[in-house]
Amino acid sequence: MVPPDALALDPVRPTFLPFNRPCLDTAEEEEIVAALRSGWLTTGPRTKQFEADFAAYQGVAHAVGLNSCTAGLHLALLALGIGPGDEVVTTPYTFTATCNVIVHVGATPVIADVEPDTLNLDPAAAERAITPRTKAILPVHFAGHPVDMPAFRQLRDRYGLALIHDAAHATESRYEGRSLASDGDVTCFSFYATKNLATGEGGMLTTGDAALADRVRILALHGMSRDAWKRYTESGYQHYDVAEPGFKYNMFDLQAALGLHQLKKLEGFWQRRHDLAARYDAAFADVPGVRRLGVRPHVRTAHHLYVIRLQPELGIARDAFMAAMQRQNIGVGVHFRPVHRLSYYRDRFGWTPAMVPVADAAGEQCVSLPLDPALSDADQDDVIRAVFRILRP
Ligand SMILES: *Cc1c(COP(=O)(O)O)cnc(C)c1O
Repeated sequence: MVPPDALALDPVRPTFLPFNRPCLDTAEEEEIVAALRSGWLTTGPRTKQFEADFAAYQGVAHAVGLNSCTAGLHLALLALGIGPGDEVVTTPYTFTATCNVIVHVGATPVIADVEPDTLNLDPAAAERAITPRTKAILPVHFAGHPVDMPAFRQLRDRYGLALIHDAAHATESRYEGRSLASDGDVTCFSFYATKNLATGEGGMLTTGDAALADRVRILALHGMSRDAWKRYTESGYQHYDVAEPGFKYNMFDLQAALGLHQLKKLEGFWQRRHDLAARYDAAFADVPGVRRLGVRPHVRTAHHLYVIRLQPELGIARDAFMAAMQRQNIGVGVHFRPVHRLSYYRDRFGWTPAMVPVADAAGEQCVSLPLDPALSDADQDDVIRAVFRILRP
């Protein structure tokens, strides 16, 4: 291994390049001001408009605005009746929220390993993890690359399971030209500050099932009966009922004010991400020891992350590489520290690296490089130069 002080490099640029920068302009600023001046701060007309626009963009019947993707995944499990005694098959190669929500509803998460090229849940491994207690499969479309959709639909139908998609990275993703939500299964999107469409905090649940969408809407607002959000309008005060205690998970209009404009610009953002990813691909194509994520035919990745996997032959530990990037004024990230490595999951469920060797190795090797539409070609050249100063000193 390279000694750590061998990587004490000078900055490649005078200012720090953050790993991710939001792409907001006057359209969002003006909409926020208009929302403030309208006097309607909570769930209201802008949320309804954003839900309609988002449903149209995804080609799905129902979209429910929420304050996070995590809230969407939690409510999806609840609305599908998944709880104690049930198992949900998912991936360890994700953000902890994916597993946390399974625990929140009292069900048991069961992890299966990922595919070596995409780091997405491997459908064959997922099938082996199915037991008579399995109620749902919860795949994550890692970095925006769609999972093997036909294989997961087959598992859904063959075993009578629910399919819940963690599409936090996958707003612009397409499989054979179709959005990941267009099947009508439950799909949850994230609008967290670093996601491709950013509202700061925010999320959306989509489904083709009107009754399920209704139930999620009610659960997202304390369990209050339908349309309680408009109980203070000129149409007159309406009493509400509560048939089951819900949560406080609703999207509000200041989030939607951002989302409306982020959505309009999203395809343009995606094109820039695509071009940046192609430039990285060209730079790293012939570098031994730098492994990139595979991209399958018939898919469009959302290019949420640009991940390189530092192979052992480089003789550089991932964490030393990251420290050297930071010292050169380049922000980097790790996606992900796999869930089986987190102490709660390791201790409670006895998960070990040997159970998911592909995910475990990837978790030690992955580094995410800056990839956002605000990145200029010159910024990206700085990133590439910083990588090569470490790999080829
Ligand atoms: C960001 C993220 C989430 C959580 O999204 P929030 O909107 O912050 O709740 C869930 N899953 C994955 C894979 C994520 O990256």
